[in-house]
Amino acid sequence: MKTDILIVGSGCSGLYCALQLPQDKKITIITKSDVTSSDSYLAQGGICMLKDEEDHDSYFEDTMKAGHYENDRESVEIMIRSSQKVIGDLLGYGVDFAREEDGALAFTREGAHSDKRILFHEDITGEEITSKLLAAVRKLSNVTILENTKMLDIVTEGNCCYGAVVRRADGSLEKIQADYTVWACGGVGGLYRHSTNFRHLTGDALALSIMHGVRLKDVNYVQIHPTTFYSEREEDRSFLISESVRGEGAKLYDKNMNRFVDELLPRDRLTEEIYKQMEKDHTEHVWEDLRPIPEEELRTHFPNIVEHCRQMGYDVTKECIPVVPAQHYFMGGVWVDHESHTSMERLYAVGETACNGVHGKNRLASNSLLESLVFAGRAAKQMEETYTEAESEKAKLFDVVSLEEYEDQKALASRYHRCVREAIIEAERLMNEKGENLGSSRGRAVVAFRRSC
Ligand SMILES: Cc1cc2nc3c(=O)[nH]c(=O)nc-3n(C[C@H](O)[C@H](O)[C@H](O)COP(=O)(O)OP(=O)(O)OC[C@H]3O[C@@H](n4cnc5c(N)ncnc54)[C@H](O)[C@@H]3O)c2cc1C
Repeated sequence: MKTDILIVGSGCSGLYCALQLPQDKKITIITKSDVTSSDSYLAQGGICMLKDEEDHDSYFEDTMKAGHYENDRESVEIMIRSSQKVIGDLLGYGVDFAREEDGALAFTREGAHSDKRILFHEDITGEEITSKLLAAVRKLSNVTILENTKMLDIVTEGNCCYGAVVRRADGSLEKIQADYTVWACGGVGGLYRHSTNFRHLTGDALALSIMHGVRLKDVNYVQIHPTTFYSEREEDRSFLISESVRGEGAKLYDKNMNRFVDELLPRDRLTEEIYKQMEKDHTEHVWEDLRPIPEEELRTHFPNIVEHCRQMGYDVTKECIPVVPAQHYFMGGVWVDHESHTSMERLYAVGETACNGVHGKNRLASNSLLESLVFAGRAAKQMEETYTEAESEKAKLFDVVSLEEYEDQKALASRYHRCVREAIIEAERLMNEKGENLGSSRGRAVVAFRRSC
């Protein structure tokens, strides 16, 4: 199969990239699962926007401070300056953000933001944005979406990418030749024992980067959420028990139902204390008590949490729930420049898979949807401006790629997972050696992988 541009991933970054590319190009989007199973659909809180010029410096500072000042300053500036254009595009695609009574956009605020600058749609902002992007993509006759189609490898010669090898929904193997390939493959949560991410997001682009010598950056910069609902089943995605529940008075208990920590500590310190307690108690979780919150408030402010716990067999108005820290977001990834180009020619990376340094060591809440869209747009623009066809004789390259080595699906997946895990462990070890680690709990959480992966 031949396409002009191959996009791997149908989350917000892949879809927005497709929408920003010229419509005379044949674009193929492949996605490992169905088209709505992406983390983009899970984003609850919202998406940041520079409200006005006055907010610029404080938005910049909040982002840098959250990132421990390790952020790439130019990436941060680009993201903030591009935010109004991107939000304008989203409104154009029909995204419905909350409004004030006078019709103006309504802004909310989250932890570590010094002002209200987050747009939202109820508590399902990601679904609202991504479903509208998907609807817009579906209207384009130049874009084909192949669901349940997994990238297994890229086809390269020298330091140049000419497409990919994929497994289709029916199990057949296929080579897709492309002038440009865009990795929009999301994060690495599927490798972790506990993660809020979809389980099929396993850092495949990172594994391929390691195998093909594509540069990576900060692969051990992993954000951990201190309190998610504990599930015994490894295959379950972790459900977030939001920080605001603790803000409203929920308490944390050890195995003897005694309080052991100040519940309002910053995320990393709270994670540290929870891990310590679990080790001391030889348990796999601690307990969270939502009963200090009045029942009426629980039902009106946190209906999704109440309902999820009910489905898992817990009545939060009567009993404590088991909670555990979980992997939540991946700040590191495939190194890219400010136009989202990787270190390999004809290969771009966008969204959570990519690392342009915008988040530094830690992401500021609600910056990731924005960053994904801004830098996916920049990749599209650069492709448009510099487009050249891959030399036609490269087709011969595809003739010699043997599909046999991709037949054993399980062996391939476990090789890729091992590759990524080892890279994360090694990066963490090096950081420990330099004494740059934030604390032992972070280290433990960063390497708390799934046994079956
Ligand atoms: C519970 C939760 C809440 C969040 N809340 C917020 C929030 O309020 N605000 C915010 O800004 N961010 C939030 N985030 C983060 C944000 O949702 C993600 O960072 C962002 O959506 C990533 O988009 P993406 O396009 O890079 O990847 P994704 O949306 O994860 O999409 C990845 C795509 O790649 C595909 N894929 C992966 N590997 C392959 C392969 N080998 N072959 C083919 N396809 C492949 C997947 O099938 C999927 O389609 C939240 C995340 C979670 C998990």
